[in-house]
Amino acid sequence: MASETGERPFGRFFLPGPTEVHPEVLDAQVRPVVGHRGPATKELLARLQPVLGRLFGTSRPVYLSTSSATGLMEAAVTNLSRRRILCLVCGAFSGRFHDIARLTGRPADRLEAEWGAPNLPERLAERLADDPGRYDLVTVVHSETSTGVLNPVAGLAEVVRDFDGVLLAVDGVSSVAGAPMAFDDWGADFLLTGSQKALALPPGLALGAASERALERAASVPARSYYFDLVDFERRAREHQTPNTPALTLLYALERQLERIVAEGIEARFERHEAMARRTHAWTEAAAGRTGEPFEVLAPPGYRSPTVTAIRLPERLRGPDVVAGLREHGWVIGAGYGKLKPSTIRVGHMGDHTPDQLEELLGVLDRVLQETLAA
Ligand SMILES: *Cc1c(COP(=O)(O)O)cnc(C)c1O
Repeated sequence: MASETGERPFGRFFLPGPTEVHPEVLDAQVRPVVGHRGPATKELLARLQPVLGRLFGTSRPVYLSTSSATGLMEAAVTNLSRRRILCLVCGAFSGRFHDIARLTGRPADRLEAEWGAPNLPERLAERLADDPGRYDLVTVVHSETSTGVLNPVAGLAEVVRDFDGVLLAVDGVSSVAGAPMAFDDWGADFLLTGSQKALALPPGLALGAASERALERAASVPARSYYFDLVDFERRAREHQTPNTPALTLLYALERQLERIVAEGIEARFERHEAMARRTHAWTEAAAGRTGEPFEVLAPPGYRSPTVTAIRLPERLRGPDVVAGLREHGWVIGAGYGKLKPSTIRVGHMGDHTPDQLEELLGVLDRVLQETLAA
């Protein structure tokens, strides 16, 4: 039996965040705490930058924020708009941008796709063309962790670039380090992620990059937040510093994890994620074939995240029962999120999981489904 407190064997924790942290990465945190303005920390922060730049697809500095990812979502909302924000919504996390705008007093609208469908460039183009000048910031979630949808960020960015003065903020929380990012080539203006998803680090860090345009905008917003002031993040990052005291031990873990990522090969890491996603899709189809029940991947082909798959269950099955069944065998997957809780399950195949571990998980899932369908 698995326990919540860590007696579970490594490799059985397929939650779509937080993800399982490799023991080597956990151990890397056990080092002395030093002053964060001293040379050792500066050197550490400088060493992290080249690999972070590759993971973000940028030559801009990558900021390190001691917060969860939502902190940098809030930074995007409070730093990057002076007028009105258009939030592309297709699930729970993309909806969060709109919630943040509401609670920080920023005018914002939602452009909704159905949960399980992507936000499409054509619809964004229509909306922006409808009233050019209405919006100055578009927010999008790249990999919508609640539904397993991968949004077409390159196409969305192309649309945004056609409208002067409109910036694009991208939430890459469950895609950075699990899928290729091309921040500079997309021409995006902000990209953020968190430590506990595809980076497979302990929770508590957020990472972000901003374009020159984004920084100009931020500098022009008087009440842009103190803790999440992107202008200050930029200024500090240029000196290999952070605005305030960083979670230093998490930076030790980050350094170790980046070494492990380079050792595997960044491309190889992305391919491993793709392979695990494809295997999960194939398993879903096979489950439908074998049982005659309508199991299906929620996201349509072409828009499926390489890091998380939401599987729609036949009506006879309830998501929470399947999750509980797996738990009894010592395995953890994600329940459906929000309104999808009863009807879906989510497999987080991100971080340091291997195709072999996934294979084992799917075998146990087969057994659980047999037991549950027979009951
Ligand atoms: C998990 C997640 C978040 C929230 O991250 P926190 O670190 O919990 O603040 C935001 N967006 C996406 C896409 C996520 O998967």
